[in-house]
Amino acid sequence: MEMLTRNFSRDEMACPCCGACDMTSEFMTRLQTFRDLLRVPVAIASGFRCEAHNREVGGSPESMHLTGQAADPVIIPEQRHRMIELAYKLEFSGVGLGKSKFHLDTGPVRQRSWGY
Ligand SMILES: [Zn+2]
Ligand SMILES: [Zn+2]
Repeated sequence: MEMLTRNFSRDEMACPCCGACDMTSEFMTRLQTFRDLLRVPVAIASGFRCEAHNREVGGSPESMHLTGQAADPVIIPEQRHRMIELAYKLEFSGVGLGKSKFHLDTGPVRQRSWGY
């Protein structure tokens, strides 16, 4: 299995419809740091998206998933508080909270936050 970082494989970060995967190393480094500090395996609900897949899942046309600067880790209920705390501590520029997953990105805008 091809790994992008120690704990994240290319397969789990790739677009599910076409297998495209052009994650930036800056984003992946930060995601790995998040994983290292959490010390618990993290599943990724969505990583890289091509335009067709982004439309299909109702992503924003400016979604950072399109440029490989975003991923949506699945929330581990008992780790929810720590996961959110770490996301802010590591200064992801976008943090979006959902019920079962959340969105992290390293786009150009600093510290946006929203519920979805
Ligand atoms: Zn695709
Ligand atoms: Zn997302």
